[in-house]
Amino acid sequence: MIEFRKNDLYIENVKLSDIAKEYGTSIYVYSKQRIVNNFENYKKAMSLKDGLICFACKTNSSGAILKILADLGAGADTTSGGEIYRCLKVGFNPSKIVYAGVGKSAEEIEYALKSKIFMFNVESFEELDVIDKIAGNLKIKANIAFRINPHVNPDTHSYIVTGKKGTKFGIPYEDAVKAYLTAKRKKNISVVGIHFHIGSQILEVKPFVVAAKKIKKIVDEVERNGMQISYIDCGGGLGIKYEKHEKVPSPKCLMSEIFSVFDKNKKFIFEPGRSIIGNAGHLLAKVLYRKMSGGKNFLITDAGMNDLIRPTLYDAYHEIVPVKKTNVKKVGSNVVGPICESGDFIGKDRMLPTIGQDKYLLVTCTGAYGAAMASEYNSRPLLAEVLVDGKQAKLIRKRASYEDLMLNEIL
Ligand SMILES: *Cc1c(COP(=O)(O)O)cnc(C)c1O
Repeated sequence: MIEFRKNDLYIENVKLSDIAKEYGTSIYVYSKQRIVNNFENYKKAMSLKDGLICFACKTNSSGAILKILADLGAGADTTSGGEIYRCLKVGFNPSKIVYAGVGKSAEEIEYALKSKIFMFNVESFEELDVIDKIAGNLKIKANIAFRINPHVNPDTHSYIVTGKKGTKFGIPYEDAVKAYLTAKRKKNISVVGIHFHIGSQILEVKPFVVAAKKIKKIVDEVERNGMQISYIDCGGGLGIKYEKHEKVPSPKCLMSEIFSVFDKNKKFIFEPGRSIIGNAGHLLAKVLYRKMSGGKNFLITDAGMNDLIRPTLYDAYHEIVPVKKTNVKKVGSNVVGPICESGDFIGKDRMLPTIGQDKYLLVTCTGAYGAAMASEYNSRPLLAEVLVDGKQAKLIRKRASYEDLMLNEIL
């Protein structure tokens, strides 16, 4: 949904330089059509099965973005009470909200129960006890799935591998059946599913299938013990194309392979995050200064690691594109932010034209784990966000002010 028309880069039918001029930079810009298409791909792939596509809200929790997905009938995969709050505010049906996380507090569990969410993805025996107790106090039954760590190791960044032996996530594979037998004895717990989520930015179907087959064994054994597991929650994790050479499996390919592992009567939940919003959003930044240092060309932009931390945190690659075509010669450049940290970079050693002050750059495919991970580090107010729909650009988050920085402080 971004393309050059003559010399200008467009998102849908809006010129990016116009957005920069109207709303200022740095700013996140999203394509509504891309979000809709990405979600519809999942929905279509699910069509013959019963189940839910739950958007993983931690990837992007902007209210207007969540609302698009809620209006499309999506469910939500949440990781905190705050995310559940946001989802309810924008109109997600609570019966389509699932809640995972290794450290759910008692307050969050109570809030989730009172909100009547669909299911908890339980990650430890102690958490099960707490949910059982709080549900008992509220005189309701809590629907649960256990998040099982299937001990597979997809090929991705170590910080985003979650389904490998020895990570903090889920119930260890060997304890899975015991967890279900324990749940069976709890008065206020109702077992409805099983959950696994093996990691993020995974570009092959194989590790998902390996995990699914291991999960199937647990399902069979649990059901032999007289319990019914209706929902298979397969998590998220499908990657997107950040670099030109990368190939991405389609949701359809992923899902049909997983469906084939399980019995026909099962219902499924998928929790895509990155693959819904990742390539629908981009960070638009302005070059403040250009300088040479140590024989290198530096473009210093008004977007820093507080606005987009992925390069710093995961050494992530985002393609960077000037929003106007130019014939100026290209040189190896480091694109960096204004923050006082050497780790504050957006892209290293990129062949970019030697553009200077006041030119705009688009840091592409930053819709996931971009704005959601932004902070005010260096007392930089949180940046603005714009949603583009056809010819229309709409502000969906105002740029924060200096006053906002001190909003909750007590002098
Ligand atoms: C982060 C997360 C997701 C989404 O992962 P993506 O790689 O963004 O699709 C889904 N489920 C759980 C439990 C998660 O923690």
